[in-house]
Amino acid sequence: MEKNQVLRKLPKVGDLLDETPIKDLMEKYGKWAVVNAVRRSIDEIRRSLEESLERGFVDVVEEEGMKKIAVERALRLVDEYRSYNLKKVINATGVVLHTNLGRAPLPEEALKNILDVASGYSNLEYDLMEGSRGERYAHIRELLCEITGAEDTMVVNNNAGAVLLTLSALAAGREVIISRGQLVEIGGSFRVPDVMAQSGARLVEVGTTNKTHVEDYERAINENTALLLKVHTSNFRFVGFWSEVAIEQLKALGLKYGIPVMEDLGSGVLVDVRKFGLPPEPTVQESIRAGADIVTFSGDKLLGGPQAGIIVGRKELLERIKRHPLTRALRIDKLTLSALEAVLKLYRSESLDRIPVIKMLSKSQEDMEKDARQLAAELQKVVRERGTVEIIDDVSQVGGGSLPGAELPTKAVALSLRETGPEELAERLRKARIPVIGRIKKDRFLLDVRTMSEEDLKTAVEMVGSVL
Ligand SMILES: *Cc1c(COP(=O)(O)O)cnc(C)c1O
Repeated sequence: MEKNQVLRKLPKVGDLLDETPIKDLMEKYGKWAVVNAVRRSIDEIRRSLEESLERGFVDVVEEEGMKKIAVERALRLVDEYRSYNLKKVINATGVVLHTNLGRAPLPEEALKNILDVASGYSNLEYDLMEGSRGERYAHIRELLCEITGAEDTMVVNNNAGAVLLTLSALAAGREVIISRGQLVEIGGSFRVPDVMAQSGARLVEVGTTNKTHVEDYERAINENTALLLKVHTSNFRFVGFWSEVAIEQLKALGLKYGIPVMEDLGSGVLVDVRKFGLPPEPTVQESIRAGADIVTFSGDKLLGGPQAGIIVGRKELLERIKRHPLTRALRIDKLTLSALEAVLKLYRSESLDRIPVIKMLSKSQEDMEKDARQLAAELQKVVRERGTVEIIDDVSQVGGGSLPGAELPTKAVALSLRETGPEELAERLRKARIPVIGRIKKDRFLLDVRTMSEEDLKTAVEMVGSVL
């Protein structure tokens, strides 16, 4: 068939707009989006026809058939237009703080407060007692000070921002002493020392990779020293012949020379994680008690809140930090602040089981066994003879550059299909309406129940059903 003859069979935009399903769509979602989808649908069909013709291969499709394909494609496009790019996924990887999957899921209390604060006006920077301008950090100051034992606090966009701002305000043009063993790289190949250098402070590295002594710091001190800095090596672990200098020792040195001590904790835990069977992780409270003048940490790592960089410490230093112009560039928004206040209140009322990250880290073997059984049984019903479903013992990870090497025994459901390999299954599930992200081990696709909610278990089954 001639090219033109084939292309002439393509439906016109006007023809499709008269089709019933398209008319229904226009009523629901408006003419603009639907006409757009119809145009794109016809364009796509034209392009694929032209490609086939070039390869000398022509499908003989009649006008009615062509129209049907165009309508179906347009319906799918409207569906795509309506769905979001940034959307919910199911984390079946077992990595609790998965940075690529948005780190900490928020507690219900935080979500409710976001809705309440952001759907209308709020007293974000308004003092209701005085009827005058207020400070946005005022809403969380008392809470954070009470929980951590610090004198004062402020919050910015994230912890990298908190470190940058603190060094800019307290050490620009001066020297900051840091141990060589603490020059760490965090996710996405960002290096803490590079972020620090942006502040205009000069990093003076002391000690060796594995050992740094308090005398190393002392030898480096001069009249230009602004800070003694400790960075918690939260994403890797030293074993064997190593030592670092404790905050207490740095504090004693700082007092002798009149130099403040700062600790970047990274993860920022507010509770002793040993009670969840995890390796010890220094808490913010301990760091303050040990004498740190400034402590910075993330809101969305082990704390289990929204992305934020929290700075706590001595009032006089925080006043200097708050006055720095970068404060304005890094400032926290009202959505985050409302979520953070709600999460901190859960810590104060010791309602830790309301915080998803804590709940997942402390999930009992019995609960995981129960969830795995339920998931396996439901999956078996949709998979039937097409494959096998099995519960296995495995380990999940904390993730988010926190608690390296911590092994959390878990239950996972292993799914293998006769006709589809694990890679192919993983890809299909990634592309499902609600994507399910699992992990592959020994040629099987695993769904780790530690990071899945009640709701997720049901949705995951539905999604597996949809891709079979
Ligand atoms: C994660 C981490 C940061 C960065 O925190 P973000 O909140 O991700 O910006 C900085 N320092 C340390 C030690 C960290 O572990």
